[in-house]
Amino acid sequence: MSHNDSLFARAQRSTPGGVNSPVRAFRSVGGTPRFITRAEGPYFWDADGKRYIDYIGSWGPAIVGHAHPEVIKAVQAAAANGLSFGAPTEGEILMAEEICKLVPSIEMVRLVSSGTEAAMSALRLARGVTGRDTVIKFEGCYHGHADSMLVKAGSGLLTFGNPTSSGVPADFAKHTMVLDYNDSAQLEDAFHQMGDRIAAVIVEPVAGNMNLLRATSEFLQTMRRLCTQHGAVLMFDEVMSGFRVALGGAQSLYGIQPDMTVLGKVIGGGLPVAAFGGRADMMKHLAPLGSVYQAGTLSGNPVAVAAGMSTLKIIQQPGFYEKLGTQTRKLVDGLSAAAKDVGEAFSADAIGGMFGIYFSEHVPENYAQIMAGNKERFNQFFHAMLDDGVYLAPSAFEAGFVSAMHSDAVIDETISVARSAFAKLHS
Ligand SMILES: *Cc1c(COP(=O)(O)O)cnc(C)c1O
Repeated sequence: MSHNDSLFARAQRSTPGGVNSPVRAFRSVGGTPRFITRAEGPYFWDADGKRYIDYIGSWGPAIVGHAHPEVIKAVQAAAANGLSFGAPTEGEILMAEEICKLVPSIEMVRLVSSGTEAAMSALRLARGVTGRDTVIKFEGCYHGHADSMLVKAGSGLLTFGNPTSSGVPADFAKHTMVLDYNDSAQLEDAFHQMGDRIAAVIVEPVAGNMNLLRATSEFLQTMRRLCTQHGAVLMFDEVMSGFRVALGGAQSLYGIQPDMTVLGKVIGGGLPVAAFGGRADMMKHLAPLGSVYQAGTLSGNPVAVAAGMSTLKIIQQPGFYEKLGTQTRKLVDGLSAAAKDVGEAFSADAIGGMFGIYFSEHVPENYAQIMAGNKERFNQFFHAMLDDGVYLAPSAFEAGFVSAMHSDAVIDETISVARSAFAKLHS
């Protein structure tokens, strides 16, 4: 029995499913999850001492590579001064100023500890500001696991959502309407029928939780126009895309200003920091200034903020995103070429340091096309890659992440592993 196997057996006795977040359990791809002992640059090592090239990067945060010396130094220095005070620090001001500088649509920001918390708080604020209850989200987008976001589309178009989790009251789900991503006509319809009841539209402007899916520019522009016309809050959930697809997030790529933005992942550099922010007139409704309550014992934690700040400094170095984009593009082009050589139905896409691979002929343009991909094929490919030391996200419906430490040699090694993986699929 490997160390991973015995740790997994043990973990399942004290923790449901043996993991603290479900996708880690490998349920979708089968097999034993790897228990990680340490990470450095583009690599991590499991409990059996095996090294992997990591394409999850902690699901996004590890954009500068694991255990970056500057980040570790900043964390150690902060930790030496005490771990948490429950009183404000200058570091939180610096972090807020940095976020407002890098994402101009954010005039004021509040720090929290997880993306879930950030999205949940931002939606409460949007409801408080507008005095309306209904929120629109899109099928396949993930906004954390607050009750009102664990919903799927109802039985007909433009009906209210049904819970996707036990424990979510139908009475909560009924305030969320779930529409199709990239379907502008449907969104027009929804606003036409009930525009005066919609508090907010929340969207991943580059979706990364149903694999990578680009919004069309027209879709986001329609959303912007409708929200403005009807007095609804346009909320970009950039927990994943923020500082990942570009320094200014997806909103800088599309040139669209949301009213509010939700951030997480990269901004904590691997420690728990998330944030929500936007128009100052809206943010001023938050406690202690306004009537919308929100709070957190560990919000703006000094050690976490130190990790986040040093990460935000590194990503502003000249050429950082050019290099990240080039390496990610090199990876997906190499994978596509390797698939083509064996006649595998495969496509891939990349934006900044984020990529998607699809076992389908063409890059999907909507949720239905993503769901139609060949999941069995992905699972075989995933395990062939894993066996040879390349760690992809353990699900056909997750995006991949490249760090600044994924050098040419690392990408080349990945592509050569992929060549033999595709060959295995065709043997
Ligand atoms: C990861 C993610 C979240 C949730 O963040 P957590 O820190 O896991 O709670 C919310 N929205 C998006 C777009 C995400 O990718």
